[in-house]
Amino acid sequence: MSEEQPQSENTTPVKTVVLLVDDQIMVSEGIRRMLVDEADIDFHYCQDPGEAVSMAIECQPTIILQDLIMPEIDGYTLLNAYRENELTKNIPVIVLSTKEDPEDKSLAFERGANDYLVKLPNKIELVARIRAHSKSYLTQLQRDEAFQALRELQVELEKSNIELQKLSSLDGLTGIANRRRFDEFVNIECLRSARENTSLSLILIDIDFFKPYNDNYGHLAGDACLRQVATALDEVVHRPADLVARYGGEEFVVVLPNTNLDGAVRLSEILCQKIRSLKLPHSHSSVADHVTISIGVTNRVACEGASPADLIKLADEALYDAKESGRDRYVVSKDKGMSDC
Ligand code: GH3
Ligand code: MG
Ligand code: MG
Repeated sequence: MSEEQPQSENTTPVKTVVLLVDDQIMVSEGIRRMLVDEADIDFHYCQDPGEAVSMAIECQPTIILQDLIMPEIDGYTLLNAYRENELTKNIPVIVLSTKEDPEDKSLAFERGANDYLVKLPNKIELVARIRAHSKSYLTQLQRDEAFQALRELQVELEKSNIELQKLSSLDGLTGIANRRRFDEFVNIECLRSARENTSLSLILIDIDFFKPYNDNYGHLAGDACLRQVATALDEVVHRPADLVARYGGEEFVVVLPNTNLDGAVRLSEILCQKIRSLKLPHSHSSVADHVTISIGVTNRVACEGASPADLIKLADEALYDAKESGRDRYVVSKDKGMSDC
């Protein structure tokens, strides 16, 4: 007797639930009798049209059988009320009319009715229509639920991808940008600098006597020192367009788009001073009793048409000079001058 109903694992009802809204108890009795043998159909009756919407919200019918002529509120007004309420707007409605009237029919469909029957209808026809409308409504609900679940999954996936993207561009030890991110960034900024004819500076930073630091204080203390230095460098470099990255080991790199050599030199001074001011004890350094850094600074103007590799080479050569000339200082590439911090 019962047609197979769509299955649902969550909130969608799988039973056919009928709500009859009609002021005449006789009609209600007639329809109740027609449905009494249908085990898969739950029947609810609402005699007071003023209660129809709240009852529909409460019993969540899969189909509403709606009388047209009732005292106080007519069926057309109720059709509007169902369609305007978020919780009832998609429930299919079969209008039950006393007569086969094209005008009534057309108005009912205009107001959002899904079907039209003259009462009392034939039992077979009524049950078939109830089942057909309920089935398509339930299928639609399940589709909506699946779609909603899919959208939630997509949002989760996007979040995870952003998180993954962040993680894949961060250095695990220090939390600042990693080498991969630097390579990507410096390539983009080099191209932009060439295209827009803007300045681009690069600062290469190396901790002085870090091997003796590790050897004497231990690798864990070395790691903690790297973290403190990275955080301090990151604090100094504050323009949103700039990038501070761990270049590798105890070396860091700063990329400064739209920054000329003067600006980069000023920042290098501040970086040296910042690390000094941390006063991280280092009794095995030959230049100070605390941790210091050496810096090589360069700028694209120093080498027309410079590629990222050129910039790194120039900064590396300047860094070498900074080490050779006593450490705890910055040196500008290409004989642009050498200075104590
Ligand atoms: P210089 O003043 O010339 O830069 O000398 P240095 O000792 O700093 O340079 P060197 O390149 O000889 O040593 C770098 C040290 O950095 C050696 C290595 O053990 C240490 N190091 C590199 N990566 C890490 C790391 O992730 N954690 C720790 N704790 N140490 C690291
Ligand atoms: Mg080094
Ligand atoms: Mg070093």
